[in-house]
Amino acid sequence: MQPVLHRKLIAGVRHVLLFFRQSVMIVSVQSGIVLARYCAHDPDLRKRKEEYMKIIDMHCDTLLECYQKKQPLRNGPYQINLEKLKKGGCLAQCFAIFVVSHDTADRCGISLAPYDFYLEMAELYRKEIENNPDLIAPALCAEDIAKNQAKGLMSSILTIEDAVAVDGRIERIDEFFSDGVRMMSLTWNYENCIGYPNSVDPRLHAKGLKSFGIQAVERMNELGMIIDVSHLTEGGFDDAIRLSSKPLIASHSCARALGSHQRNLTDRQLKLLGEKGGIVGINFCAPFLEDHAVLSSIENIVKHMVYIKEKAGIEALAWGSDLDGIDGSILEYEDYAGFPRILEALSMHFKPDELDRINHGNFLRVFRDNAG
Ligand SMILES: [Zn+2]
Repeated sequence: MQPVLHRKLIAGVRHVLLFFRQSVMIVSVQSGIVLARYCAHDPDLRKRKEEYMKIIDMHCDTLLECYQKKQPLRNGPYQINLEKLKKGGCLAQCFAIFVVSHDTADRCGISLAPYDFYLEMAELYRKEIENNPDLIAPALCAEDIAKNQAKGLMSSILTIEDAVAVDGRIERIDEFFSDGVRMMSLTWNYENCIGYPNSVDPRLHAKGLKSFGIQAVERMNELGMIIDVSHLTEGGFDDAIRLSSKPLIASHSCARALGSHQRNLTDRQLKLLGEKGGIVGINFCAPFLEDHAVLSSIENIVKHMVYIKEKAGIEALAWGSDLDGIDGSILEYEDYAGFPRILEALSMHFKPDELDRINHGNFLRVFRDNAG
């Protein structure tokens, strides 16, 4: 190739690239103007967008982060804080007291017994919510959420992850309820007085609830404390479904068909949960969404939503982000404040009334059926 011809060719390619870039800029500026005009002339669209942003997330581990890092819940360095909740479109957030025990307590440097740790965490929750009356207020029933919303406030719902602090004393469930706890997972990843944890061993995973666990389910039903079956064995799940007189929740689990982790629910479990009027909160943990994944992608979250709708029905879908409990995952949407990006992707697959159900309607129904 001749040098002069070469230079002319490069100049020609540059010209084409420049033209292409300018064209793209013109098109994108024009699209922005068109979109802005469209929104201005369609107040319903703007209203619908606001409607979508009323999220109830059924699980996060932010309180433990708060306990360990000793930074405020309002704006501390967490995946969820009150300012991020506001920005992301929160209607209500379930704050779990993750009652650490066994080697997890050792790893976290916590030497308190489970019940004593629960007491400290419950006090921390109470103080943090009381410190922020301009942003959030507690909700003890579904109606409280509406009342708080009318005052321009988000709602907080206190929950427990791992019933280990019950320690075989049924009256402790009453005590937790009077402290404001409205949902409790029967187990975490250890055996406790109620049952056994999920396991890769099919024999262990088939174990049902203990006799005290059966009493605990009855007492939770009577009080109006929602039964959370995430982390439980499949045998325990079946017992809880059979015994509970009220709809129950898998607060942070996904579909086993798409992510083979034993914490995820099989098609059979999804169907049973849906038939019982229960709900499942999609967990954002990357390896739950897809085997061996480290990226918690929006696409995978949407895939689980679409799949669970097929197996359990639209009325079984909800959110269970597990934020602040999924440190090993890289989040495509950064943190809770990125929720609108997830909703935007979801709106390509679900109608507005379905999005309402996923975001808050389904949880409000189950909350009402349990706690009034
Ligand atoms: Zn968990």
